[in-house]
Amino acid sequence: MRFDILTIFPEFFDGPFRYGVLSRAANAGLVEIGMHDLRAFTHDRHKTVDDRPFGGGEGMVLKAEPIFAAVESLGVAAKAERDPRRETVILLSAQGRRFTQSVAHELAQLERVVLLCGRYEGVDERVNDLLADRELSIGDYVLSGGELGAAVIVDAVTRLLPGVLGNADSARFESFGRADAALDSLDEVPRSMHGSGGLLDYPHYTRPAEFRGVPVPEVLAGGDHAAIRKWRRERALEKTFRNRPDLLAEADLTRHDRDFLERLGR
Ligand code: SAM
Repeated sequence: MRFDILTIFPEFFDGPFRYGVLSRAANAGLVEIGMHDLRAFTHDRHKTVDDRPFGGGEGMVLKAEPIFAAVESLGVAAKAERDPRRETVILLSAQGRRFTQSVAHELAQLERVVLLCGRYEGVDERVNDLLADRELSIGDYVLSGGELGAAVIVDAVTRLLPGVLGNADSARFESFGRADAALDSLDEVPRSMHGSGGLLDYPHYTRPAEFRGVPVPEVLAGGDHAAIRKWRRERALEKTFRNRPDLLAEADLTRHDRDFLERLGR
């Protein structure tokens, strides 16, 4: 899979992709990440990428021409001819649809993702109309530029690519995961050892068994795997109920889960 990031600050990405999972994935050839400086696609002495907004108002706007020239130099198909199962062009924008784990899964199926990073007051809207397939936002807040958003998308998508995580189950059995093995039947306690099914992850512990007076929950050291599964599932339900109750509406819940949530006061 290949990512191409278009930005006026290509050096911004020197850091985020040099560590851990992303750097290993790139070194193993599982993902390619190209950075492209929009100023290289300007034709004036000052390498101008921005201009004043029509209609007046605050700040400057990122011009359309360098962005079109940069995308066209990559050999990406024109918007009308693009095969959406193969490649996509995304504009990072606070006005976009929310980037979620399910969008990450969708993007992980593609061969190529082009990410356009805005700056200033934003990007000339013709980029959105004529070049980008969609606008994505990484959350309900305004950032100074699209670079952090692009790095977030590259990270979240890359870890879903086959072979990137040592243990393929890690990406299935974690927060927002939709592992099909989660439920045996709607009456049973889930068989698998995780939150999953659209819930947040359960709490994790490692040694020492007691830290600053707080012991690891007894059940985790007891070796009773059914009891551990039940404890983990209930903690995942509890955490989701407390921190993200909105996720429960879409989660795969067993009858046991529903009873447990009712006892919590849902
Ligand atoms: N005037 C814009 C607005 O009110 O929506 C904000 C522009 S922001 C200062 C500059 C650039 O940062 C945007 O063009 C976009 O690329 C990026 N950006 C800001 N917030 C973002 C978010 N939540 N998700 C993704 N990109 C964001």
